[in-house]
Amino acid sequence: MFSYRHAFHAGSHADILKHLILIHLVEYLQEKPGALTIVDTHAGAGIYSLIDGFATVSKEANEGIYRLAKFAKTNSLCPGIANYLECIRAENTEDEITIYPGSPFILARLLRPQDRLKLFELHPKEIDILRHNISELKQAKQIDIYAEDSFARLKGLVPPPSRRGLVLIDPSYEDKQDYRYLETAMEEALHRFATGCYAIWYPTLSRRESAALPDRMKKIATAHKRSWLHTELRVENAPKERRLQASGMFIINPPWTLEKQLAESLPILIKALGQDSGTGFVLKSFEA
Ligand code: SAM
Repeated sequence: MFSYRHAFHAGSHADILKHLILIHLVEYLQEKPGALTIVDTHAGAGIYSLIDGFATVSKEANEGIYRLAKFAKTNSLCPGIANYLECIRAENTEDEITIYPGSPFILARLLRPQDRLKLFELHPKEIDILRHNISELKQAKQIDIYAEDSFARLKGLVPPPSRRGLVLIDPSYEDKQDYRYLETAMEEALHRFATGCYAIWYPTLSRRESAALPDRMKKIATAHKRSWLHTELRVENAPKERRLQASGMFIINPPWTLEKQLAESLPILIKALGQDSGTGFVLKSFEA
């Protein structure tokens, strides 16, 4: 436990899919003026250098954000991807991308004065880095940071007072039990706050628990009579080294606009990030 450091994976294709969707969800929910509470259950360190430290060991950004940025120079993008790239570039002063914002920074920058952000992080080193990074932001007063197990705490945080909430659940799945904890946390959260928007990230692996996750989530959403959207992005087929080749997002109570945005974005991501003929995507939804 606790060998996972997100810096190794910052700016990867999986981050692109997750953060592209996250930005869309926040901006949709902010179309109404009421206060929005966002819970990021697995925060990480908040923001990452791509030119020194862990990120330079794994170089996952080379097949992720750097590929996309290069593609963007000679190809036209859809508004969703252009908007995502703008959010990433906003953390960089130079033309070249050397800094990659994790979900806490992406979310913090999007907060309006009436919104709140709650970040959870359990890793003893990551939590200190996260606290330091967030303290430098002008939005820091709107952000609470908890060094607690978010799976256990989530049910106590929903519904938020404004009853408008977005929950990002992005575990490392380092502990195989995370799959089970996720199911319990989702059951409890939907029981208390059925109308919240929940975005769950997962790695697409051959491991039984990972392969079963979308169906488990569909079952939970259906039992609570909730709409859902399921998407996966695969950038290569042949297993190379120990890199992740595909990842997915499962969204419960997705905005009606998300499927259209992904139908535009995913074919572009395939062109930009695809490495071999195994590239592909999944996009399915159900309206309750
Ligand atoms: N959401 C981040 C982003 O998009 O930039 C990346 C998060 S990373 C995939 C998962 C993080 O969750 C790790 O930093 C890990 O230490 C932390 N973590 C693992 N189990 C946790 C738990 N039960 N509660 C809170 N944090 C946890």
